[in-house]
Amino acid sequence: MQTAAKQSIHSAGLDEIETYLMTLKERPYRAKQIVDWLYQKRAGSFEEMSDLPQALRDRLAQDFGFGNLETVRVLGSEDTTRKFLFRLGDGNLIESVLIPASPALYGERSDRRTICVSTQVGCAYGCRFCASGLDGFSRNLDASEIVQQLLAVEKATGERIDNVVFMGMGEPLANLANVVRSIRIINAPWGLEIGARHITVSTSGLAPQIKKLADEPLQSRLAISLHGATDEVRNRIMPVNRKYNLTTLLSACDYYASQKKQRIYFEYILIGGVNDAEEQAHLLAGHARRVGARINLIPYNTVQGLEWSRPSREKQERFLSIVRGHGVVATLRREKGHDIEAACGQLRLQTKRAEENALT
Ligand code: SAH
Ligand code: SF4
Repeated sequence: MQTAAKQSIHSAGLDEIETYLMTLKERPYRAKQIVDWLYQKRAGSFEEMSDLPQALRDRLAQDFGFGNLETVRVLGSEDTTRKFLFRLGDGNLIESVLIPASPALYGERSDRRTICVSTQVGCAYGCRFCASGLDGFSRNLDASEIVQQLLAVEKATGERIDNVVFMGMGEPLANLANVVRSIRIINAPWGLEIGARHITVSTSGLAPQIKKLADEPLQSRLAISLHGATDEVRNRIMPVNRKYNLTTLLSACDYYASQKKQRIYFEYILIGGVNDAEEQAHLLAGHARRVGARINLIPYNTVQGLEWSRPSREKQERFLSIVRGHGVVATLRREKGHDIEAACGQLRLQTKRAEENALT
């Protein structure tokens, strides 16, 4: 088990490793050798770093953790959405989802392999429709536990990931420092080398943190989980809206848009009888025009134990055409992974419950 005090090497930046080596009076070029072992050669331990002196390998192993995620379950198969359940060093479970080529997801037209990463164990925000919040919140992931999700999935599939969305379990902006740190490593030329435009952070609407993110010198993308175009609808399904209402949220989006030369995405899950009225479509389009956002409509994925369901296909298409009628760029996701419970948090919840049952 990892000791809490030891920093994992996968959460350290190249500059930090250089500074650390300086304190040991080691040559600075060793830092580049170390990150090459981590992110190019994908070493599984310090011991494998064969061109480092043995004494340095031993010292690194003393000073840093070298966590590896333990794969508990994989659902799905090649060419479909695959879902990975991982166990962390302290026994907690998290999930990542790998989504194959999809024409209308995030970023460029030809998104290839997109990974959806978790940022927390559980979630404190308790959106009524979401499986991730059902069991409450346990803890933040550190940057290494986020980066290791990519390493583990690439190792398991033998394929490179070219797009990252922070849309798994947890609220990324409630864990902003670790998320920003992980983005730097994912994006770095010495790290996983994924372009910032292929990295999207999603938030349920933490207005002050949206502004903080706007001030970070990062070119990653931002998605807002809107799911309602009025306070009335958002209050009903997203408790966070009582803290930061739509007016506050949209002005944070304005600020973000003014600081970055890029578009925001609005995520909008379509839930039958809850947020799918035509009036919501008109208002949603108005909000999107105001902040220059694009809209991704997502038919709701059923969650065991929750009463919500998606509207009919016709109703989904009608909603889409109203939004587009206002001149807003919008897509309707023909989502994959419905069959393997790909909505965030579901696999973990199932496994956790099964483990708890086995113990009692
Ligand atoms: N906490 C962040 C990121 C994780 S949730 C956020 O809320 O944005 C990632 C996305 O999955 C969010 O847009 C969320 O609303 C959506 N989601 C949650 N449960 C879902 C479900 N059952 N079906 C479809 N999308 C869902
Ligand atoms: Fe948390 Fe996002 Fe799920 Fe809301 S939708 S409970 S913020 S993970």
